[in-house]
Amino acid sequence: MDSWRGQIKNKNQRKKKNRFRLPMSDKDSDVEQETQNSKANILDKYANRIKTDEFVFKKSKTSKDKSDRATVENVLDPRTIKFLEKLYRNGTITKLNGCISTGKEANVYHAANETTGKQYAIKIYKTSVLIFKDRERYVDGEFRFRNTKNQHNPRKMIKIWAEKEFRNLKRLYSSGLIPTPEPVALKSHVLCMEFLTENEESPSPKLKDYQFKDTEEVGRFYQQMLVYMRLMFQKCHLIHADLSEYNSIVHKGQLYIFDVSQSVEPDHPMSLDFLRMDIKNVNDYFQRKIQVYPERLIFQFIVNDWDSIKEKFEKNTVLEEENEQTLFQYLESLPLKGEDDSNAGFEDDIFRSMHLVRSLNNLEDRDFQEFADGKITTLNELVHDINLESESESNSDSDSDSDSDLDSESDSASDSEKSWKERDTSLKGKRFEDKDEKKARKQQAKELKQDKRKTKMKKHLKKKLIKRTKK
Ligand code: ADP
Ligand code: MN
Repeated sequence: MDSWRGQIKNKNQRKKKNRFRLPMSDKDSDVEQETQNSKANILDKYANRIKTDEFVFKKSKTSKDKSDRATVENVLDPRTIKFLEKLYRNGTITKLNGCISTGKEANVYHAANETTGKQYAIKIYKTSVLIFKDRERYVDGEFRFRNTKNQHNPRKMIKIWAEKEFRNLKRLYSSGLIPTPEPVALKSHVLCMEFLTENEESPSPKLKDYQFKDTEEVGRFYQQMLVYMRLMFQKCHLIHADLSEYNSIVHKGQLYIFDVSQSVEPDHPMSLDFLRMDIKNVNDYFQRKIQVYPERLIFQFIVNDWDSIKEKFEKNTVLEEENEQTLFQYLESLPLKGEDDSNAGFEDDIFRSMHLVRSLNNLEDRDFQEFADGKITTLNELVHDINLESESESNSDSDSDSDSDLDSESDSASDSEKSWKERDTSLKGKRFEDKDEKKARKQQAKELKQDKRKTKMKKHLKKKLIKRTKK
C-alpha cells in the first residue's frame, strides 16, 4: 500500500511488559517420599549435564561451566528434575545449556541433543500461587478444561497449564497454517519444543527486536500478523490472548507465534475481549512505524465468515477461495485508520468502548455508525434479535436487510461454531484494556458475574460525537 512508503513515525518507545525477575527456585513443600529417594540418584547422574545459569549465545559455550549438584538443586525442584530426566532418558535431549528467560509463569531453558545437533526450548512452569490466581480467568469458562477440579492445587495447575500450552501449540503447528516452534514433548509441567534460532551464534529475534529492512517490510509483517490472527481464529479456533511483539519471533524471514498457554477457544466467555486486546496490542506496536487499520475493521476481518468478507470486496475482483493470498488481497482493499469515515480520529476509541457481543461477527457498518451516533448504547438488542431469529428458524419474514444478513450468518456457521454460539450469548465488554492493568481485569471479571449490567458508551465519547454531529 502506497501510504506505507515513507511513513515511519518517531519511535515512541513504551514499555509493554514488566518482566519480573523472580528467584528461580520453586519450593515444593510436600514432596513424595519416592521422589525424595530417587532425587539423590538423579542429581548424581544428571547434574553435570544440567546448566541452570543464564544461557549466552557464544561460539565458545564454555562460559564457566557452573553445572554442579548444588546449583542445579537450588534452581530446580526434585519433581522438575524427575521430569527433566525423562527427556534425557528417552533421548530427546542430552544437555540443558542454561536459562534463556525467567518469566512470571515459567522459566525457559536452552537444551540440545549433541548427537543430532538439534536445539530445544524447555519451558518449565513454576508453582506460584499468586500467578495462577490470575490465570484462572483463562481456564474458567474454557470448555476443554471444564472437568478440571484441581484449580486450587498449584502443582496440578502448572500441569494443566503446560498441557494447555502443549495442546494449543500442537493445534497451531499441525494446521500447517501458523508458523510455531514444533512441539516435541510434554512431561508434566516440563514442555519441550523446537528452539527457534538462525544458528548457534544468533538467536532468531523477537518481533520487538527485529530490524525491518524498510517500511514495506513492516507493512508486510503487519498484514501477515493479521492474516495469522484470522487463520488462528477461523481454522484453529483459537484466540492467542497474549499476542504482541514479545510473543512472536522472526525466524528465517517468517513470523512465528508462540507462548500460547493462555490461548482460548471462541467459546470462552471473554474470547472476543481477548481478541480485541490482541488487536490493540498488535496495532499499538505497528502504529509506531506505519499507518494501521482501524481496530474495528481488523476485528471484522478476523471474525467474519468468508462469504461476508468476499461480499465486501471490490466487485471486479474475484476472491473465490480463502487462502493467505486472498486474505492479503482483502487487507489491501481496506482503508487505513483515518482514511475512511467521519469518525476518523477516535473510531478506535469507540470500538474499544463498545459492548462486545459474540454476534458482532456480522454487524454492518451502519450498526457501528448508529452506535457512534449514540442511537444505541449497547448492541444487546441486536443480539437478542439474532437469537430469536435462529430459534424461529425459517420464519425469516422480517423486513430489514440487516436481519437477513445476520440470518445467513448463522446458517453458514459450522456445527461446532453453532454449538458455541448457542452455549453462550451474554457477554460483557470491557473498556480500554491494557494487558498490564490487572486491576481493570479483576473489575472486569466481577462485572462479568454481575449479570445484565449494561455497559454504556463513555460519556466523554458521547459528548464528542454529539458535538461532531452538530457541526
Ligand atoms: P513467558 O510466559 O514467560 O512469556 P514464553 O513462552 O513467552 O514464556 O517464553 C519466554 C521467552 O523465551 C521468549 O520471549 C523467548 O525469548 C524465549 N523462547 C520461548 N520459546 C522459545 C522458542 N521455542 N524458541 C526460541 N526462543 C524461545
Ligand atoms: Mn511470553
